[in-house]
Amino acid sequence: MAVSARLLLLPGDGIGPEVIEETRRVLAWLGRHRGLDFRVEEDLIGGAAYERLGDPAPDATIAKALAADAVLFGAVGGPKWEKLAFDKKPERGLLRLRKDLELFANLRPALCFDALKDASTLKPEIVAGLDILIVRELTGGVYFGEPRGIETLGGGARRGVDTQVYTSGEIQRIARTAFELARLRGRRVASAEKSNVMHTGVLWREEVQMLHDAEFEDVALTHILADNCAMQLVRNPKQFDVIVTDNLFGDILSDEAAQLTGSIGMLPSASLGAKDTDGRRRALYEPIHGSAPDIAGRGIANPIACILSLAMCLRYSLGRAEDATLIERAVDRVLADGYRTADIMQDGMTKVGTSAMTDAVLEALEAA
Ligand code: NAD
Repeated sequence: MAVSARLLLLPGDGIGPEVIEETRRVLAWLGRHRGLDFRVEEDLIGGAAYERLGDPAPDATIAKALAADAVLFGAVGGPKWEKLAFDKKPERGLLRLRKDLELFANLRPALCFDALKDASTLKPEIVAGLDILIVRELTGGVYFGEPRGIETLGGGARRGVDTQVYTSGEIQRIARTAFELARLRGRRVASAEKSNVMHTGVLWREEVQMLHDAEFEDVALTHILADNCAMQLVRNPKQFDVIVTDNLFGDILSDEAAQLTGSIGMLPSASLGAKDTDGRRRALYEPIHGSAPDIAGRGIANPIACILSLAMCLRYSLGRAEDATLIERAVDRVLADGYRTADIMQDGMTKVGTSAMTDAVLEALEAA
């Protein structure tokens, strides 16, 4: 049955347009072979939007994002725009999207493909088969809490202030997301905070536990201090299924978990908002990597993180888990067949560029 989905592609800067272009080819394949009828639009964001329109987060782009079933985002940023005022910086484009789409849950899977288990800095047996999902609260906490700023004190001294603040509602909605996702996976949630030293940590622990007891007793819940969680991620990462945590700890723990799997060029992510009354969730999917200005324009970027972001979009926004699995298996096949972009190159493997890697994924999809 044809599924009609409205997708907005926002390629952005650096390698963003390169990896989005490859993902478009996978979209076209799905359209031809899997009855998916996408209405695909594309628009400007980040540095590219600033160059053309003087605004890294144009209203027209935001309006299209609000109307879309899902947004597929490349990356923004680059040295060219580093000295601009904060409200003109490319990153503002992503921040406005997160805010206006109310994307409060950031999903970061750390998956270790078998063929890449030797690429991790950890021993292969520690990471082989790894499949963790980190659910990070994205719109609250210390990155947004007031008061914040740098003030000048007497005698030329200065004081910097950031405020960690969470309400019970913010904690409950991210915890609910984590529990619901755990039901689609291994039914285990570890909630990470610092309840030993922070009031927000105490509140976090209590609220997560109360929600669990009221609605999610079928999911196993454990509480872990965030610093211990960081340590356990490198000691024995496979003990985790879903980790739910706040904005700051999630920022750090998800990067740490990503590194377990070898390359930043392999990992997708999703940011989800609240469900509408009709059950539709606002959502943005993007590779976790940035715009990689050091390799932009050379045709060597790894497109897999972006292609796997499309797979996440199929699973979480479009109800097409089967198609998502098809893409993930195709990526697995390509890696097992020895295809590698420069970032994941290993001895004895076949080095390919951005579009040749996508060719291989498409061939694997054909063969599936
Ligand atoms: P980065 O992720 O762009 O690059 C880090 C390193 O990984 C680089 O050496 C790069 O070449 C490599 N790399 C990244 N993606 C790759 C891929 N797909 N294939 C092969 N190699 C890849 O991070 P950075 O260098 O810290 O930041 C560069 C710019 O990107 C900055 O302007 C930063 O603000 C921006 N950034 C944007 C986002 C986003 O748009 N969501 C995220 C992170 C960084």
